[in-house]
Amino acid sequence: MKLINRNQFSLFLLFLVFISGCKTATDNELPHLEVSQLEQAYEENKEAAITHRRFKHADLQPLIEKHANSFKVEELGKSVEGKSIFSLDWGNGPTKVMLWSQMHGNESTATMALFDLFNFLEASGDGFDELRTTLKENLHIKFIPMINPDGSDKFQRRNALDIDLNRDAISQISPEAIILKGARDSFEPEFGFNLHDQQIYYNVVNTPQQVTISVLAPGYNYERDVNDVRAKAMQIIVGMDKVLQQVIPNGVGKYDDSFEPRAFGDNIQKWGTSTILIESGGYVGDPEKQYIRKLNFMIILNALEQIATKGYEQFTTEQYFSIPDNDLQMVDLKIEEMNVEVEGKTFPVDLSIRRGETNAEDTYYVTGSVVDLGDMQVYFGFEEKDASGLTYAEGKVFETPFENLSEITSEKAYELLREGFLAVKVKNATAGDLHNLPILVLQSTETFPSGWKTGSKTNFYLSDGTELKYAVVNGYWIDLANPKDQLFKQVIY
Ligand SMILES: [Zn+2]
Repeated sequence: MKLINRNQFSLFLLFLVFISGCKTATDNELPHLEVSQLEQAYEENKEAAITHRRFKHADLQPLIEKHANSFKVEELGKSVEGKSIFSLDWGNGPTKVMLWSQMHGNESTATMALFDLFNFLEASGDGFDELRTTLKENLHIKFIPMINPDGSDKFQRRNALDIDLNRDAISQISPEAIILKGARDSFEPEFGFNLHDQQIYYNVVNTPQQVTISVLAPGYNYERDVNDVRAKAMQIIVGMDKVLQQVIPNGVGKYDDSFEPRAFGDNIQKWGTSTILIESGGYVGDPEKQYIRKLNFMIILNALEQIATKGYEQFTTEQYFSIPDNDLQMVDLKIEEMNVEVEGKTFPVDLSIRRGETNAEDTYYVTGSVVDLGDMQVYFGFEEKDASGLTYAEGKVFETPFENLSEITSEKAYELLREGFLAVKVKNATAGDLHNLPILVLQSTETFPSGWKTGSKTNFYLSDGTELKYAVVNGYWIDLANPKDQLFKQVIY
């Protein structure tokens, strides 16, 4: 065995450097903000003026004004009802990034996160200045929060023309669509973020895992081809997913990439902007989506950092495709093998129940109804209950009216429920007012709907033949012997 000479030794050292370089590029990622830093950045900069998801256009105006010194604020135009749509620009760098939120008025989660992000970008002296400098010198960011103010003020999807803006990218009927298209055309961003919310009922395909954040690099043609523009969006999404998997393991789904020729995301991708769709879904115990707002802040900041440092180049489109797909199979309540009687015979059926939201008084009430029944093995319930041996039973109205709603305590309501009454009447009340009792409250009607077939309103009992064991009130499951604490979002009928 002969000794190696000096040249060979140098080559060996070079080889070692090369090996460790490879390791950095593949096993370890480029230096970036850790999850704990992203969380800290959020907690220190959360916009305190926004506390729930039904804020209005007017609520945002003082917040936009507050940032007028650090951002270039511009009125891009007005909505159908004449409300101003603003953009906020930040940074002096060569790479242009555009983010727009709430083209669907009832999808407000990302708008909250953008205002948190404005606070973060404007702050200083908190340990994040180096990052801010990197972002500022590399990026020019244009934010357009709340592109659909008319829909947002009614907390509805569509604009004041009842047009879905996400089907108006080409026809350009709506002023809001003209504004968004105009901003893209004049700014010509290299990267775009299309910020939405999706229903809370999405799951990771074939699993009961609820999807909290959906991602998509939208397709730009029916063939779902991947060009360089779309590939970059995919790479950034991989980096965002790596952040999310640390805080919501398995809570991320990939949205369907079928091409929609009228949609903004698909077309902006087609026009040459690497476009990323973020859809905020649901998270148990977070009805106002404040935790999901934080997740939005974290992944948007992560994505901006990836773009500024080109950190996304370490990721591959294969990694993107390995993110699991979304499915839409979650329900609020799944009841298994409840007996129903038809034609004197008994049949065991599973019921899938969702509690749909209706806007009211800056909040909402729910209406529980049957989505589907029979073999429900492909549905997953946030709550799942075994009803084998129990039979569907109708409830009654307690006929003696109460003077006022305040006379009915929760305890009183549970007592009546146990006696077979699913509804009470109240004299001095207004139909349409909200309440949080576990029982139905009637003012303008003598009866309430019930049933177990598809579309039926879910107000019924489950009986073991001698005793009422459980009540289903508006889709809420109530164990009559041992009712748990839960928030009932109800309305007076
Ligand atoms: Zn949407």
